[in-house]
This record gives sequence, C-alpha cells and structure tokens, in this order.
Amino acid sequence: MSTKSDSGISRRRLLISTSMAATVGLLAPRALFAQDDGLVQTARKTAAAATITIEKLRGNVSVLMGAGGNIAVLPGRDGKLLIDAGFAGARPKIADALASISSDPIKNVINTHWHFDHTDGNEWLHSAGAAILAHTNTQKHLSTTTRVEGWNFTFTPWPAGAIPTEVFDDERTVKLNGATIVLKHYAPAHTDSDISVHFTDADIFHIADTFWNGYYPFIDYSTGGSIDGMIRATEANLAKVTDKMIVIPGHGAVGDKSQLAFYRDLLVATREKVAALKKQGKSLDEIVAAKPTVATDAKWGNGFRSPKDFIGDVFQGV
Ligand SMILES: [Zn+2]
Repeated sequence: MSTKSDSGISRRRLLISTSMAATVGLLAPRALFAQDDGLVQTARKTAAAATITIEKLRGNVSVLMGAGGNIAVLPGRDGKLLIDAGFAGARPKIADALASISSDPIKNVINTHWHFDHTDGNEWLHSAGAAILAHTNTQKHLSTTTRVEGWNFTFTPWPAGAIPTEVFDDERTVKLNGATIVLKHYAPAHTDSDISVHFTDADIFHIADTFWNGYYPFIDYSTGGSIDGMIRATEANLAKVTDKMIVIPGHGAVGDKSQLAFYRDLLVATREKVAALKKQGKSLDEIVAAKPTVATDAKWGNGFRSPKDFIGDVFQGV
C-alpha cells in the first residue's frame, strides 16, 4: 500500500516538474514571474493526470488516494458519504473510483478543512447531488478572498455550489448508512477549520491534515495554523487513538497509533531544535544549514514539503 502511494507521489512530482519545464520553455520572463511559485495552479492543472488508488478499510469504509487529500467513502442506502472532495480536475477518475465501490448516488460531502486539495471537488459533487457539511470557518474561507502566504497564492471565493450549506462549531454527530459518525473541531492546528471524523462503528479515525503520514506537513499560518497548534492536535489525537483504530491522515498512507506517535515525536523534536537555534540568534537560513531534521529528510522531505519548507513553517511559530 505504501509502495503504491509512494509511486503515486513520485509520478505526480514528475508531472509537476515536466509541466514546470514546459512553462519555463514557453513563457516570456514577465509571464514566468507571474507563474513563480505557482504550486496551487500547478497542482490544479496536473490533477487530471493523478493516479487514484482505492483501499478498502473496515465496516464498508474505503479511502481514495492520489487526487488531493485522502477521501474516505461510506456507501449505502442513504447514498454515498465522502469525507473531502479532492481536486476538481480529477473528477473523471474520482467518479470512476466511486462507481467501482457501489452504484449508490453521491449524497453527502463533509470537508475536513477549507484547503483547495480537499474542497475543489465540492462544486461537481454538489451538482451531482451532494449536500456539503463543514466547520463554520471552512464556509467562511470558501466564501471570501483568502490569501495563503505559504503557497504565495490568493484564493478567490469558491463558486456558490461549492460552499458548505450546513456548518457546525464544536461537534456534530451524523447518522448515515447505519453508521454513527462523530465530527469534532480542533483548536487551530493546521488551519482554524480542521475537524476530525470518527466512524465509530468501524473505528476509523480520519484526522485530516493534522496528520501527514510520511511527509513533512504544511502549516497554514495565514488561516490560523501553527506548529504549537499542530502538536496540541496531535497530542489530542494520540490520547484518543487505540491500538485497534485505523487512522486516515490527510496525506500519506493509512496508518495506526505507532505511526502517529512517531509523527508527534518528529514535530516535538523539530520544534525544540529550531526554537533553540532561533533563541541563539540564528537566521532561518542558518538553521536550515544546520539540518535539524537530517534523520528524517530522505523519507519525509520528498513529498509535499521539503525540509526547508518544513523548518520554515516551524521557525515562524517559535
Ligand atoms: Zn490542508
């Protein structure tokens, strides 16, 4: 499973490099400057080429991987429930994957937070018949112009059909397809809109982008995230997760308690090292050069965030 996921990531990275190379070859310098750091645009454009894998978990819950954030799916007589919506450009592949799970119509989408790789598919899923539920701050960010410094990108409001029509603030219990699903808002962690989704019967816990399994996480300070918030959310997750629980991260392979504990230790150790060096007066560049994350860089720094990106995210918050 992790092999599949890893090769999916490499393919996507390869595609991104190819497309960036094409861009460099074709555009005049001024236009090139406008495209600089176009992570969001590039991710959206290359989504159609994504490879999607389906992993069956437990209690009729599956997860689709490779089209943005991990999408959990619970089919049944109330229609399919999706946790997150992926990239819009991956619509044909997501639709095929969903059809291969069951013929139930798509009826409900829950967004784990507002980020585009979890919500760009909202509009087509809504047009296909889904009601969309999320935290109040997800509705807020999707409804307004939102700048994310870490991605050097300003999002315009999402189309009307993509905006969650139902919201909650702290906690919500949803009963669908014979399952009880408990949604809980985190104190600001990766953003200010993060929620966890617990399929209580199957004992599957989707903890979204508070957990990146095997990849350095992105921390979105522009909409309320922080390294300390990420650590607090991870401690809260660990306090709840049992040895039997299946843990779905926002990105990376489906995991378990031991992988979550490793991730917590990684966040805490990096925070301590970066904070100590910053306190000594070291600049971000000097701290990056000191390689505080060298032990995990080969595995964790080759995905969504480089070691430098991750150290920069931690540096901002200590
Ligand atoms: Zn995110």
